[in-house]
Amino acid sequence: MVNDAYLRIIGYTREEFEAGQVRWDEITPPESRAADEEGIRQVLAEGVSEPYEKEYVRKDGTRVPIVAALGKMPGTGEVAAFVLDISSLRAAQAELARSNEDLQQFAYAASHDLREPLRTVGTYTQLLFRRLGEARADAEVRQFVEFIEEGVGRMQALIEDLLAYAQVTHETDVELTPVRSESVLGTALENLKARMESEGATVTYGPLPEVQGRDIRLVALFQNLIGNALTYRREPARVHISAEPDRDGWRFAVVDNGIGIEREHHDRIFGVFKRLHGRKEYSGSGVGLAICRRIVEQHGGRIWVESEGAGKGSTFYFTLRAAVRGEEASASD
Ligand code: ADP
Repeated sequence: MVNDAYLRIIGYTREEFEAGQVRWDEITPPESRAADEEGIRQVLAEGVSEPYEKEYVRKDGTRVPIVAALGKMPGTGEVAAFVLDISSLRAAQAELARSNEDLQQFAYAASHDLREPLRTVGTYTQLLFRRLGEARADAEVRQFVEFIEEGVGRMQALIEDLLAYAQVTHETDVELTPVRSESVLGTALENLKARMESEGATVTYGPLPEVQGRDIRLVALFQNLIGNALTYRREPARVHISAEPDRDGWRFAVVDNGIGIEREHHDRIFGVFKRLHGRKEYSGSGVGLAICRRIVEQHGGRIWVESEGAGKGSTFYFTLRAAVRGEEASASD
């Protein structure tokens, strides 16, 4: 039995369906067969399948992307399939990918091109200062030069961060391999060592798992999160990193004793250039968490923050998939 919505998805009439003209092997392209077979295996074994994606070949030969889920009907034990047409979702995603790409290219080009004139400003300020001569360079002139240099330095840092963001957003198909999270965390801590020592920070961690990832990105992820914990604090930072099993992988937690974040800001801090403080208070560009979010998404995970508010510390959570072992490893298991 099928309903009209299903017939519209596959593009057949009820008469055609009832005359037996709709055959599974005709409406299912070869690439989607394994997904159906796995769904059927799950529903027979467990009474319900995970939702899965596949395509149908419609009567007119066009393809339609769908999400299907199978479940056993109570009582009769017959298998029912729920099918959702996701064509418009896919079209919207393609459109979004296109506009994101434009934006990335713009960010990349702009940050590249901005470096050059900025270097010129820096260099010529220095030259001008020297040409003015010590004698005429009174305290005020000296201060102006300092302001210019500070501005140039800040802008350079912003551009570097923007470039780093453009770089991570640029890559779509990131190849993931098994990575020991303890070792990427170790590299991040090594990079932060000087700061940790001079600020008297303590970073501890529990046993950490192997995940499916790209090591340089995971170093950046840990480094950004721990770096923030070192920045947004009043007392010396105490940071603890741990991981717990999660649905299909691991949920990491980075807990700090810092200034905390009000609930209303929990989402917006992950946007580009979103900051809660002026640079006089705490310096930064507002790109770090946007980079973190992008990295975690490229790894198929989620990132979010929990904090009971000002002064209560923050916990940044993110999920990563469990490491997928090669065939050799699973054969010897
Ligand atoms: P940046 O640190 O360069 O400003 P981020 O994107 O890393 O940019 O962070 C965005 C904002 O989120 C910060 O400006 C700060 O207000 C807030 N924030 C980030 N991490 C923490 C933290 N551990 N504790 C409190 N606030 C934080």
